[in-house]
Amino acid sequence: MKHACTLALLACLLALAGCGGGGRVTGSSISACMDPAQARSADIRRSLTALRGAPVCYRRQEVYEGDFHWTFHILEHTRAPDGPFWVLPHDNENAAFDAGVHALLTYGGGLLAVDAGGQRTYRGQDPNRNFSSSRGESRLCIAQRRPAPRYTRAILDHYRGRPSPILALHNNGNGHAGNGGYGNISMRRTGPLLSHWPGAAGRGSPALADEDNLIFVAGRRAAYADPALRRRIEALNGAGLNVIHKQVTAQSFDCSLSDYVARHGLGEYYNLEAEHGARATQIEMVDRLMAVLGIRALRTRDARNPFLG
Ligand SMILES: [Zn+2]
Repeated sequence: MKHACTLALLACLLALAGCGGGGRVTGSSISACMDPAQARSADIRRSLTALRGAPVCYRRQEVYEGDFHWTFHILEHTRAPDGPFWVLPHDNENAAFDAGVHALLTYGGGLLAVDAGGQRTYRGQDPNRNFSSSRGESRLCIAQRRPAPRYTRAILDHYRGRPSPILALHNNGNGHAGNGGYGNISMRRTGPLLSHWPGAAGRGSPALADEDNLIFVAGRRAAYADPALRRRIEALNGAGLNVIHKQVTAQSFDCSLSDYVARHGLGEYYNLEAEHGARATQIEMVDRLMAVLGIRALRTRDARNPFLG
């Protein structure tokens, strides 16, 4: 009975979130549910074969903020909308998008991808350096052109009423600038507020040990000083996943989603990073993260749960 009530409440919250309702965030509108084939997105066009026949709704969200007119492409599983929800800030990270589609079809939930015409930045703004809620906060970040409270709220509002942790998917370049590579995220790149937690070796895929494949987490305290976080990191490491933790302070805050979530204490957050093109590895990482979080694949859940069947 308790479960039925929870589902009913969830259905209400989702109805409020509205397929076609839109307008909850000033300067933002969300389209009605459409067939994914109608999306004007190269990523979704590339995924149409995988999406064909799946219970997936496509919506287009537009956010107006100053000179910026942002477009978000949203895919949601209509039979299991309460599953994990992923944010994809960078439009040039194709393996990340493919891993997001795998996650959507396997675990339900949804994804939101920022449109930047296939580029990393949109009109000179990195979409993952665009999370702030005030002028004072924006001033802390050299890579944010102006404060973006609408953009920030429009993205984070998708987590309202969802049991999902905040999840992001990214790709990064091989290595890092300090070791002859060109990426800026690596298990081998050290920094004063970064700590590195290598995954247990010998857990299947050797690709998981690559310096560029890792789960990025953030918090206001050092990882050493946060026992609950340490336990989560240990579980991820035990599943063979590398982890980098960033301690977010007023000095280190960079207007990325991870930093914003940590700074505002918005809850559990995981950014799943894999090297550009490492599609199969990133999919493997999604499956391992879901296993650590106790999120089961839909087939199993459907069989157990008459509400989702
Ligand atoms: Zn990225």
